[in-house]
Amino acid sequence: MVIIYKDIVDKLAELGALDVSVALAFDDELGRVEITRFDGQFMKIDDDGENGYYLTGEMECRLDTLCDRCGEPAKVLFNVSVNMPIEPSGMPVGGSDSEVSDSEGDIFYSGAESLDIDELLRQEVLLNLPVKRLCSENCRNTVLDEIVAKGAGDGWHSGLSTLKDVLGLKQAK
Ligand SMILES: [Zn+2]
Repeated sequence: MVIIYKDIVDKLAELGALDVSVALAFDDELGRVEITRFDGQFMKIDDDGENGYYLTGEMECRLDTLCDRCGEPAKVLFNVSVNMPIEPSGMPVGGSDSEVSDSEGDIFYSGAESLDIDELLRQEVLLNLPVKRLCSENCRNTVLDEIVAKGAGDGWHSGLSTLKDVLGLKQAK
C-alpha cells in the first residue's frame, strides 16, 4: 500500500489521526513471513504536527520456517510493535505549502512524495524476526523426556536405543 504523504498530512490536520490496515506476506531466507494483521494509526508527534508524524500499532506476524531443534516445519507466531517516525526524504517536515523551491529555484511538488507502507512494515518485521524458532515450546524437551522416560525403567542401553529410534525416524522422513 502506497500512501501519498500529503494525504496523511491533510487527514491528520482534519481528523487528528489516520487509521491504516495492512496484511501481507513475503519470502525471506528463513521462510515465509506473514503480517497477518496490522491495525495502526498515523499520529502527529505534537499537537500541530510541526515535529512531524509517526506510525504506531501492533503487527501480528507469522513465520513459516523449520524448527531450530528438530528440523520439522514450524509456524512461529510473534508480535512486533511499530513506533516509527514518518517523513519522506526531501520533504520539509511541517511544510504546509504544496510546492517548494530548492536553491536552484526548481519547483517540486511535495504532494508527489509517497510512502510505501508495505515496505516500511516489511523492513520492521525483518529487523524483529524471532531469534528462537521452534515447532513447539518444548520441542527439545519432548524428545529428551521420551528418552529419559523409556530409559529410566530398563537402564542406559534402552535410552540409547530410543535415541537411535528417534534419529532413525527423522532420517526416514
Ligand atoms: Zn521442533
